Amino acid sequence: MFPANFNYVRPNNIREAVQFLNEHKDDAKVLAGGQSLIPMMKLRLAAPEFLVDIGRLPELKEIDLDDAVLTIGSLIRHADIETADLIARACPLLAETAAEIGDAQVRNRGTIGGSLAHADPSADLPATMLVLDARFSVAGPDGRRIIMAEDFFTDVMTTALRPNEILVSIEIPKMSRRTGCAYVKMHQQASGFAIVGVASLITLGRNGRAEDVRVGINGVSGVPYRAHAVEESLRGKPVDERNIAEAAALAAQGVEPLSDIHASSEYRREMATVYARRSLQRAAQRASAPQRH
Ligand SMILES: Cc1cc2nc3c(=O)[nH]c(=O)nc-3n(C[C@H](O)[C@H](O)[C@H](O)COP(=O)(O)OP(=O)(O)OC[C@H]3O[C@@H](n4cnc5c(N)ncnc54)[C@H](O)[C@@H]3O)c2cc1C
Repeated sequence: MFPANFNYVRPNNIREAVQFLNEHKDDAKVLAGGQSLIPMMKLRLAAPEFLVDIGRLPELKEIDLDDAVLTIGSLIRHADIETADLIARACPLLAETAAEIGDAQVRNRGTIGGSLAHADPSADLPATMLVLDARFSVAGPDGRRIIMAEDFFTDVMTTALRPNEILVSIEIPKMSRRTGCAYVKMHQQASGFAIVGVASLITLGRNGRAEDVRVGINGVSGVPYRAHAVEESLRGKPVDERNIAEAAALAAQGVEPLSDIHASSEYRREMATVYARRSLQRAAQRASAPQRH
């Protein structure tokens, strides 16, 4: 199906883009890689009057690493995250997650900012953002503001972004040395989206026990969430198979899992436990190994 007619606008900088969005608010939509927005327009699930193409703004394409923070511009594509040396060194969890997104064509066009702003419950990056304690830098008519990842995803395909704001960059704090991370996922066979996707981070203390544990889960609920019950169960304990299995059993505690044509609520609950266990096991192995993940 063809999309409804729309007007195409290409601002020269962030300020112009924000100004245009502020004037047209709900009638305008930002266009980044187009991998989610264009299909929605073709299905007539979205029919914006204006498309504001930010795809060539150089300010949104920067990657920077300093002593404390990795900063990634919102227009950085999944394929670049998957392959950039800097990201592989500074935050391999992000590279591992990006590599799990869709297929090569989607990863070559889709952007980190587009994926986060779209907030599909089955997307891969949100859980990883929660686990990394990422901060989102956002530009609006009154200047910049920061939204923490945990405050960003508010409902199904809904975020704390206002219609007149642009996600500019994602800031990821540096991890401690004895940290291991992993992202594992159960793919929906046709699209590759996550039926369940679990990001984990484990930092070991000097006594070999889990000092910090963070677990983020995609696909199970309408909104990605931190599995705090899992984290609390494992914190302070040795990361052996029994403790991990005991903690992972709490992956869907307090959550009413989604039910759709791909998986029932019960199945998602069960898979949340299975994939949380696999993710935690891999993160624990990596935390113990010399190479950081
Ligand atoms: C066949 C297929 C398979 C896929 N499989 C997966 C998968 O397995 N896992 C997964 O995570 N994703 C998957 N995706 C989605 C893909 O990751 C998209 O790249 C991503 O969801 C949207 O990024 P985009 O740059 O294309 O954004 P667009 O489609 O351009 O925009 C998406 C939405 O975000 C808004 N937006 C974009 N950038 C910004 C910004 N900087 N500031 C404010 N708002 C903004 C737009 O207005 C729009 O509402 C798949 C997509 C397809 C088509």
